Amino acid sequence: MENKFRFYNTLTRKVETVIPNEEGKIAMYTCGPTVYHFAHIGNLRSYIMEDVLEKSLRFVGYDVKRVMNITDVGHLSSDADTGEDKMLKGAKREHKTVMEVAQFYTDAFFSDCAKLNIKTPDVVEPATNCIDSFIHMIEVLIEKDYAYLAGGNVYFDTSKLKDYYVFSSQSEKELLVGVRDDVQEDENKKNKNDFVLWFTKSKFEDQALKWDSPWGVGYPGWHIECSCISMKHLGEYMDIHCGGVDNIFPHHTNEIAQSESYLGHKWCNYWFHVHHLNDQSGKMSKSKGDFLTVSLLQEKGYDPIVYRMFCLQSHYRKPLEFSYEVLDNMTSTYQKLVKRIAALKPEGEIEQDKYDEYRTKFEDALCNDLNTSMALTIIYDLLKADMNDATKVKAIGDFDAVLSLNLLTAGKALAEEETAGVDAELEAFVLAKIEERKAAKKAKDFAKADAIRDELKEKGIEIKDTREGVVWKKL
Ligand code: AMP
Ligand code: ZN
Repeated sequence: MENKFRFYNTLTRKVETVIPNEEGKIAMYTCGPTVYHFAHIGNLRSYIMEDVLEKSLRFVGYDVKRVMNITDVGHLSSDADTGEDKMLKGAKREHKTVMEVAQFYTDAFFSDCAKLNIKTPDVVEPATNCIDSFIHMIEVLIEKDYAYLAGGNVYFDTSKLKDYYVFSSQSEKELLVGVRDDVQEDENKKNKNDFVLWFTKSKFEDQALKWDSPWGVGYPGWHIECSCISMKHLGEYMDIHCGGVDNIFPHHTNEIAQSESYLGHKWCNYWFHVHHLNDQSGKMSKSKGDFLTVSLLQEKGYDPIVYRMFCLQSHYRKPLEFSYEVLDNMTSTYQKLVKRIAALKPEGEIEQDKYDEYRTKFEDALCNDLNTSMALTIIYDLLKADMNDATKVKAIGDFDAVLSLNLLTAGKALAEEETAGVDAELEAFVLAKIEERKAAKKAKDFAKADAIRDELKEKGIEIKDTREGVVWKKL
């Protein structure tokens, strides 16, 4: 198989061709959610684009194994080792135990993913399952002199590395943009960027989950979980690591520091980062309190798949601004598209050469730094193309394995929804009126045609002239 899949690697700052490992497989890791609250639709933008990446790799022929962690311990309310544990904060807010909160929001996360047609990764592992392997990695790091004990905590010593800022030659100041809220200096640290591997002493002594360790009873820092969980399931070499851009620093930078110091060799070749979803007031974030969830979109009458299409219309490396107005427009774009597809009449043989031509175009778009908006354009091109409907339906069905927009089923469901509750008598009446209007238009009696439209409107029926003929719905 020719290696033709290319995307922007944050590590080299170039669009690069993905070369699989010696067994021809791709080991892929995704930083999972911190389950102290619902995921907002910004988080889900990252998971949608990572889902499309995985499905695209599979579509062009790679064998992918994808692993994701669930952060149910260790993520503090600031990324800089200060602040309260996010899980504990969630538990206090909801008067539940930390594990109850973790289970509730893990389930909610996967339910949101299902609504957005995001496939569950092959392996999902909560951090609290792997405490022993965290302790082991920290012991090795201490042994190798990459970590030290201070004030009861274990820290990674960033001064031991030749190049801590592996992601770029950007200034420290720029990298600190990724660090969220309430950054305070920890006096135990030898160097500003040293980070906690294991806490036994924290300002927040009421930490709910604690484990025994060689350094005392305590709990892990946040970054260690992704290094250990990925190695547990993917081994010492990883191909693609994904996350949102805010994960570049400090989280992914620290993952690389500890993983490569532990292993003694390069760990991951390609880093895929999705840019943020913003609302009019800036970056969407859980700590802002008032944020948008998939359930909220549904309550307002939006189909979650329309949000997926909204994400696919833009490139993953560009910031994306959310507004209800664009979602309204996207709803009508999506409905028009699926209705056009539902009107296809798949009869006859597949025209293989035409199918292949469009499949190549579709794959080329995906292989070109995951150009999802181009991939969508190819669906429109295909609808206009000179090929029979059977070939169109086959191609759209196959391509939807990547796009996951319910392209073959949504149009029919929509039509059923629109005509639900309409009795047979009314339907016969409307169809007769549509015929009458057609005849009036043919006879150039436009006044009569308009009068029929108004008459129907008065009865609560809206008709529309479309490329596929007249369609109608109950208002
Ligand atoms: P968290 O649950 O906070 O650990 O974040 C889960 C994922 O969402 C991570 O990959 C983050 O980088 C990503 N993320 C956080 N905020 C946004 C945002 N506004 N837009 C897109 N992705 C985000
Ligand atoms: Zn991670």
